[in-house]
Amino acid sequence: MAQSVFFATSEVYPFSKSGGLGDVMGALPLAMQQSGQPAAVISPFYGRVSTGNYQIRLTISDLPVGYPWAPITADIYEADYHGVPLYFIARGEYFDRRFYYNDHKGDYFDNAERFIFFCRAAIALMERLGEPPAVVHAHDWQTALLPAYIHFLRPFHPFWRQTATMFTIHNLAFQGRFSSRLFDSCGLPPEAWNMDGVEYYGDFNLLKSGIAYADAVTTVSPSYAREILTEKFGCGLDGMLRKRELHLYGVLNGADYVVWDPASDPFLPANYSLDNIAGKRICKKKLIEELGLLPRLEKRPLLGFIGRLRGQKGIDLLNSIIPELMEMDVGVVVLGEGNPVHEARILELMENYQGRVAAVVGYTEDLAHRMQAGSDIFLMPSRYEPCGLTQMYALRYGTPPVATAVGGLRDTIEPWPGEQATGFIFGDSSPKDFLQAIKEAVFLWTESPEAWRAMTYRAMRQAFTWTKSCAEYSEIYRKIRLRL
Ligand code: ADP
Repeated sequence: MAQSVFFATSEVYPFSKSGGLGDVMGALPLAMQQSGQPAAVISPFYGRVSTGNYQIRLTISDLPVGYPWAPITADIYEADYHGVPLYFIARGEYFDRRFYYNDHKGDYFDNAERFIFFCRAAIALMERLGEPPAVVHAHDWQTALLPAYIHFLRPFHPFWRQTATMFTIHNLAFQGRFSSRLFDSCGLPPEAWNMDGVEYYGDFNLLKSGIAYADAVTTVSPSYAREILTEKFGCGLDGMLRKRELHLYGVLNGADYVVWDPASDPFLPANYSLDNIAGKRICKKKLIEELGLLPRLEKRPLLGFIGRLRGQKGIDLLNSIIPELMEMDVGVVVLGEGNPVHEARILELMENYQGRVAAVVGYTEDLAHRMQAGSDIFLMPSRYEPCGLTQMYALRYGTPPVATAVGGLRDTIEPWPGEQATGFIFGDSSPKDFLQAIKEAVFLWTESPEAWRAMTYRAMRQAFTWTKSCAEYSEIYRKIRLRL
């Protein structure tokens, strides 16, 4: 039996999820296993972890971790996720909380301790399991110390000698930057503290440790892999990334079409598919009712936005053009949470344009599905987008996106006009360009129903499968293992 790839992640759907990372980690390990590569997942056991129909059982208690002081231990819970072993690292004081990383007052004050502890516990767990992993594949800053630990363990610890490491950046903006004093007890040797290591302008930068020490660094779309080498998109780490350019790859995420398929989606009031699209109309009608919009909007384009209400996602751009959109007599529906300023503004707009703008501030998985299905046009004015999954779902749900020409959006949407068009792309994240692109979409929707329908069908036929992404990851695993 081949050795396993161990995925380390702070979120794994359906157990935990705050965004795209959760979706990816719910799908990629399974796809990897189905492609013939045994896989396992290590993730925190949050207080709000949803157990669904899965049995989760305690398999190891009091595993010594030794961070931040020697006697500290972790408990390990295990679930069988369709054949993939899922190990949950539990320690109440760190993970038994209402939210994952922050509450409404801001980031949890002890995030560094929480995730240093997690990475150290992951190392202890893999050693306890007894068989060296083929690859440890870490994701985002929360698990970025793992490649660094393994890099420094390899010369002294035979267990780790044949384990390669990969680090995937899902969002370069979140770096896990902390005070230098936290470095002292994290378990890395002093030589890691330098410009080419974990130090960043005098701070301890966890994401940078993954970039510095992983055998390969990847990000979640080819375009974003190129963009992050530039100052504009590099979030201060473009210099470091350029140093690792030869080992930097872009692998486009797949979409999980088991969870996101309008033909079988249990959250929809009516299912539909390429063969019978009638259900989409019912989904629109029901969404209009559910959100209290005017019934006459059934005959006008309904524009949907789902995502974190942050500058990255361009929610401020959308908020700023809503008065103009209202003049075009369209409906706007927004689902998201995030920055309180943007939250307050969209709620205010809902008040101002009652029956035509609906906003749900919060996190509601089932409504996200109904909005994908019930909207006509999906809005994604991101300022940067490492990959983006919501536009992939929108395509599958026959809801052509209007999106900025950045990162994964340019890699997944064929722009109008064009014979293969599946959506609308605009160049600059300015309100003017965004509005212009929406006008084009609305014009096509109203004036050329045939062309619109053809675009919808093309969109629904797009397939961003995990099989393809897995093949690319496997090839990189193979290369980095050869170099060990
Ligand atoms: P990111 O990971 O940058 O947040 P993605 O487009 O990659 O963005 O993935 C976002 C995922 O989170 C999608 O599954 C989307 O449906 C979901 N999502 C985002 N905000 C909400 C929300 N408020 N309620 C329900 N689901 C949400």
